[in-house]
Order: sequence, then C-alpha cells, then structure tokens
Amino acid sequence: MIEIEHLTKRYGAHTAVSDLSFQVEQGQIYGFLGPNGAGKSTTMNIMTGCLSATEGHVRIEGHDIFDEPDKAKRLMGYLPEQPPLYLNETPEEYLRFVGEAKGLRGDALARQMDGIIEQTGIGAMAHRRISTLSKGYKQRVGVAQALLGSPKVIILDEPTVGLDPIQIIEIRDLIKELGRTHTVIFSSHILSEVQAICDQIIMIAKGKLAAFDTPENLERRLLAPNELVLTAETDEEALAGLLAGMEFISAAQMERTGEGRLTAHIRTDRTDIYEASRAVFFAFAQRGIPLLELTPKKANLEDIFLELADDGDAQPETAPDAGHDTESGVEEE
Ligand code: ADP
Ligand code: MG
Repeated sequence: MIEIEHLTKRYGAHTAVSDLSFQVEQGQIYGFLGPNGAGKSTTMNIMTGCLSATEGHVRIEGHDIFDEPDKAKRLMGYLPEQPPLYLNETPEEYLRFVGEAKGLRGDALARQMDGIIEQTGIGAMAHRRISTLSKGYKQRVGVAQALLGSPKVIILDEPTVGLDPIQIIEIRDLIKELGRTHTVIFSSHILSEVQAICDQIIMIAKGKLAAFDTPENLERRLLAPNELVLTAETDEEALAGLLAGMEFISAAQMERTGEGRLTAHIRTDRTDIYEASRAVFFAFAQRGIPLLELTPKKANLEDIFLELADDGDAQPETAPDAGHDTESGVEEE
C-alpha cells in the first residue's frame, strides 16, 4: 500500500534521512520508532507530500507522491508534529474548514464531521474555542482533521508527546481503535508505547532503517545478552552458594542493596531468558529464599538504536536517481 524506496533527505551537508526503504501493508498499525533526531518527522513530512526528498520515491497505492500528489495525498490523513490548529476557532469550525479544503461539502461533510467528532470523543468540546482545550483534546482535534476525507492511511507524528499519563492512554486507545478501520503509522521515541500498540515496528536511527519487525521479535532482540537482575532476602554466602549450584549461570555480580537484601546481576547461557528466570525462581523457592525481584535486563534503547544504525552502514550505497529538489512547501491541512 505504501512503498518507500531509497529515500534520502539532505539539509546541506547534513543527511537527515539516508537511503530508507520499507513497505507498509494495508490494515496494520505501524510504529515508527527512533530517538530524537532520527529522521521520523522528516520521513513523515516527505511521505505525506509536505516536504521534498533529495533522492528516492514514495508511492501510495502506486501513486508517486511527487508525480501524482493529489491522488496520493487523498489516501492519507496526517497529523504533523506541530498540528496547524486555529486556536480562535471551535473544533467544529476548524473541522468544517479542513473538510472543505479536502473537497467535502454539504451533507457529506456534515455526516463525516458527526462520525469523526463522535469517534475522537470531542463532542462535548465541539463548540469551545480550541485555545481553551487541554493538550489531550487539542490532539484529538488534530486526529479528527486527519480522519476527514476518509483516507485509508492515518499518519500521526508523535501523537502522545506532551500529554499527561491519562491523556496518553486515551490517545493510545484511539490509535488502536483507528487501527481496526485504517492503516495507521505513528511515530514515537518510546519503545514501550510502540510495543503496546503496533503490529509492526519500523525502527530508524540516524536516518537509517535499523529494524523492521514485530514487537515480539524486536523485544527478543532487545533483551540484553541473557542477563537477569534479581533481588533476594538473604546473605552473601547463601546467595553465592545457590548461584554456584545453577549450571546455566555463567557469571554473577552481587551487591548489598538494603538490610538483609542483595541484588545480583546474572548472565546465563540459556537463549530463552524466561526459561532461565523460571529455573532461578524455583531454585530460590526450593531453598526458601525470598526472591523480591527478578527481571530480564533490557539493553539501553539508545545503545540499540546506535548499534542497529551502525549495522545499517554496512549496506551498499545505492546510485542516486531522479531527485526532487524543489521544496513543495506545506500544503493545506
Ligand atoms: P525526529 O522527528 O526523528 O526527531 P527529524 O526528522 O525532525 O527527527 O530530524 C532529523 C534530523 O534532521 C535532525 O538531525 C534535525 O536536526 C535535522 N533537521 C530537521 N529539519 C531540518 C531543517 N529544516 N534544516 C536542517 N536540519 C534539519
Ligand atoms: Mg519528530
């Protein structure tokens, strides 16, 4: 449904997006994950026709975003990082304006607005000025304008940034619900958020594709090399003895973290970290040593981003082809 091919964006000497290629299939929720500055917004702005590319192609159902922008854009609804909301208008006025800009009129527009206002839960706020709404409601209005025109794909750039925890949950639920009727691509720099909502994770770092995988597979890859952290109520001697008796443990480090409490970092040769956790749990239970905490250690996300991005460097350079060097500027929406 969406093909991104060898996409590159350079700002002078700085390469924001570098030879990025991936495909998006219909009906799934994609999390576009990467640390700040990874190139998420740049990629999304290019995908939606708001920014030109230096090299590469974007096709939406076969329509090139640069050659057939009208056809391609009609298939997408976009909530940019800084949504262009008109603060002095009410959500209803604003949605009518955006709907008309998307070519909707009369009954068709009214019906769509009603459905979208209901779906995004902004009914009670429809007649208040946008400037008086909470950030969470403003964000819903932003999602609502993206839904106008019945696009097949909804693209949301960091929709949960700046929201409080309750608003974050509400927006995540809204994204999940949109996923039932739309293809959704949303960006985030928070791994757990993307893991919780997405069918597929597209991970980028330094403008390059670092991983494209399901959350389950990625989580497996993201676990640190089989390391467990445990805290137990015991003394050094008992803990050392217990750990020494477990043949699958290859290294352990202990430290006292409280009165009668020790924390140990354990490395294991088991490839399935949960299998090792299970064995540790039963070993402690058998000896009657209270295990207060037992967690597979997650690798630091930034490190993984960088590591995966460095792997990306090994890929062959592609020949530059037809570039699009004219800035098309931000359109309507
Ligand atoms: P993300 O959305 O993942 O945080 P961006 O796409 O905003 O990343 O930015 C990617 C990189 O491109 C960053 O290093 C950023 O500083 C740079 N960049 C973004 N926009 C511009 C611009 N208009 N001019 C120069 N550099 C830019
Ligand atoms: Mg961004």
